[in-house]
Amino acid sequence: MSTQIEALFTTALGLQPPWHVAKVELNTGKRRIDFEVEHTGKRAACPACGVEHQLIHDRVRRSWRHLDFFQFEAWLHAEIPRVQCTGCGKTTQLPVPWAREGSGFTLLFEALGLSLCRELPVRQAANQMRVAAKRLWRRVRHYVEVARAKDDMSGVRHVGIDETSVKRGHQYITVVHDLEARRLLFACPGRDHQTLKAFADDLRAHGGDPATIEHACIDMSAAYAKGIGQSLPNAQISYDRFHVVALANAAMDAVRREEMRTSAAAVREAVGAHSKKTLRQLLWGMPPGSE
Ligand SMILES: [Zn+2]
Repeated sequence: MSTQIEALFTTALGLQPPWHVAKVELNTGKRRIDFEVEHTGKRAACPACGVEHQLIHDRVRRSWRHLDFFQFEAWLHAEIPRVQCTGCGKTTQLPVPWAREGSGFTLLFEALGLSLCRELPVRQAANQMRVAAKRLWRRVRHYVEVARAKDDMSGVRHVGIDETSVKRGHQYITVVHDLEARRLLFACPGRDHQTLKAFADDLRAHGGDPATIEHACIDMSAAYAKGIGQSLPNAQISYDRFHVVALANAAMDAVRREEMRTSAAAVREAVGAHSKKTLRQLLWGMPPGSE
């Protein structure tokens, strides 16, 4: 291929000197495009201590999966220089501008993976990208950790605590939301009082203070009430409206059934209904004759 093609792909890949595309190989049978990227410098600054103009000691061959170019699976390959530093005495590999250290994906390919994982299960995202799901999981964990390390929970005052089951079984996790910011703060396995101790520890680790939590909204679980008492000492408990309404409805229904069973005649007389059908409709709040 002409050097024009290499220059075009150097630009397309966003490479800056001394990095450039030296060779492009298109394999239409394998639907694959391979870019050989080169570092043309003889010297470089030491990545460990920053001393300039250090001799390149040797080069290490590496490959990275990149975003597809049209329908072609794209790969970058490069011999990465290692600098032997006269300043700090260490031999250090230069970072590459297109990938995290140690990653076999370019940053753009990782970004595609993460954005797909926001919409799809990881396995499906991995299928679409034609990579093993565990490789994608590794990235998800890495970036979730990076993002969580930066998470600031100092302003959290009102939390909602609830359990949810995972994998359609009886495996429960506890999730804690910031009710004001409407975002998930914390999740962990289990639904006992210890989960709130774990939340309080995590809150502290992110600049928050369990003592400043004023309000906790929960279902009516005794375990959560106990956990709040132990770990969120100043939080007032309120019960989630959804759970209260569900319980009230169930209680009303139990009373209705009981009354119909034990004193149907008295009920009929009290509501002034004469047939069983009219009575049923009345009790369900429907106007007679609407069935
Ligand atoms: Zn150095």
